[in-house]
Amino acid sequence: MAVVGVLALQGSFNEHIAALKRLGVKGVEIRKPEQLLTVNSLIIPGGESTTMAKLAEAFNLFPALREFVQMGKPVWGTCAGLIFLANKATGQKTGGQELVGGLDCTVHRNFFGSQIQSFETELLVPELVSKEGGPETFRGVFIRAPGILNVGPGVQVLADYPVPSDKVLSSDSSVEGKKENAEEGSKVIVAVRQGNILATAFHPELTADTRWHSYFLKMESLVGKEASSSIVPEQVT
Ligand code: GLN
Repeated sequence: MAVVGVLALQGSFNEHIAALKRLGVKGVEIRKPEQLLTVNSLIIPGGESTTMAKLAEAFNLFPALREFVQMGKPVWGTCAGLIFLANKATGQKTGGQELVGGLDCTVHRNFFGSQIQSFETELLVPELVSKEGGPETFRGVFIRAPGILNVGPGVQVLADYPVPSDKVLSSDSSVEGKKENAEEGSKVIVAVRQGNILATAFHPELTADTRWHSYFLKMESLVGKEASSSIVPEQVT
C-alpha cells in the first residue's frame, strides 16, 4: 500500500488521512524529524500556522522539513500548510513566524478575513479537470484563508478567485502587495504548483471530492523528472 506522510502537529491532519484512505493510500502521521525519512511525500494540513510553527520548532522539525522540500519530494500545503511553504508571508500577526519556504511566492495570512468571513465557493481549476476529469468546478472551502499576492516565474497558477469587496480587510490595505489585489474586479491566487510543491489556500480534505488528493499522488511518480526544476533560482538580468 502506498504511504504519504501527513504533518500531524495540529489542524486537519485526520481529514487528510481519511481522504487518502478513500483512495486506498495510507496516511502516516509525522511528528518527529526522523519520521520524515520513512515517507516520500508529505501533506502539511490547514490549522493555525503560528501554533504549527511553534510546535515544529519545539520538535526541531524545520531543518528536516526544509531538506525534504529541497530534495524535490512532493509536498502539498493546504491553507496554513501553504503559509508554511511560502518564501514570504505578510499580514497581521505574522511577525517573525518561522516558515519552511521553498515556494516562490508571497502569501497574505487571513486575506479573506476572520473565522466568520469563512466561505465556500465553486472554483474553476482547468489543470485539475484536465488531469482528473469530473465536474468542471471544485468546491473550495475557505476558512480564515490566506491569499497568494504574487508568484515567481517558475510557479504555475492553478486557480484564482475574484477579490470580494466585503471579504477585504480595509485596515490591511496598506500592507505591501495587498492594495493592488484588493481592487474591485482583481483576482487573488488560491492554488499553485511549483515542480514538487503543490499549495492550496482552501481545504480539499473537508470535501468528499478526492481529485486534489489524487492529483497530488500522481506528482509522486513525476518527481524524478521534475525535481531539478522545483527550486527556482532568482532571475539574473
Ligand atoms: N489563517 C490561518 C493561519 O494563518 C490558516 C487557516 C487555515 O489553515 N484554515 O494560520
